[in-house]
Amino acid sequence: MSNLWGMQRVSIASTQKYKSKIMLNQHQKHYLCRVLRLGKGDRFIAMDGRGKSWLAELTASTSARIIEALVQDTELGVEVTLMVALPKGNGFDNIVRCCTELGASSFVTVGSDRTLLKPSAHKLSRWRKIATSAAEQSERQIVPEVKVTTDFVTACDLNHQLTPNRYLCVGRGRAPHLLHRLENRQIGNIIIATGPEGGWSEGEIEIGCASGFQPVSLGKRILRSIIAPIFAMSLVAATLEKE
Ligand code: SAH
Repeated sequence: MSNLWGMQRVSIASTQKYKSKIMLNQHQKHYLCRVLRLGKGDRFIAMDGRGKSWLAELTASTSARIIEALVQDTELGVEVTLMVALPKGNGFDNIVRCCTELGASSFVTVGSDRTLLKPSAHKLSRWRKIATSAAEQSERQIVPEVKVTTDFVTACDLNHQLTPNRYLCVGRGRAPHLLHRLENRQIGNIIIATGPEGGWSEGEIEIGCASGFQPVSLGKRILRSIIAPIFAMSLVAATLEKE
């Protein structure tokens, strides 16, 4: 296989690939040819964001041809969804960036009893861009999805009943540590929910537990809402990769 070290990664939509040909969009063309100064015959890695990637070669400034499919193994092996009550300001940007690097498969933002925020379409598209560039940078095969839900009940209903390992991070309680739960989990995917600055309300904790979420602790200190998901995701990645 070719030496892929340091090679630029570019996420492409399925509509951009036809057989062994890739049509680049304006942004990709600009980035590869103007910013990186690649030209005809230069190679890059194209990824579809859903698990497939290919070694590709620029044929002209608007297109590329696929040389070979790549087999890479940089994913965690189970899907990890982070359900995050949106923090104020741009706090979620960093959560998406760091947790994508750590291996998260998808993000679900939750409007909670203690947050009023409903993100704009502009923010959603920014988070998707952040997820894409973080996935490219950390050599992922998938680009995590970002979904928006208005409240915790809706978020709990999003097919999550099929996920065997669901954890609700609750500070100041007596819940077992997330690490302990992870070490004793069932085979299959994982969902972790973290609350807003003011914490989950009692009602939300009840709804979560009724929908099969197990309360967990992230330690004796109270973490800020922008740190809790990153810490939780770090524990998941470390647990899965040391096994
Ligand atoms: N203001 C709240 C804390 C909110 S922290 C209070 O004083 O209790 C924001 C979120 O991070 C919480 O809802 C929880 O999901 C998570 N979190 C922070 N520290 C945690 C801990 N030690 N254990 C479990 N969850 C924690």
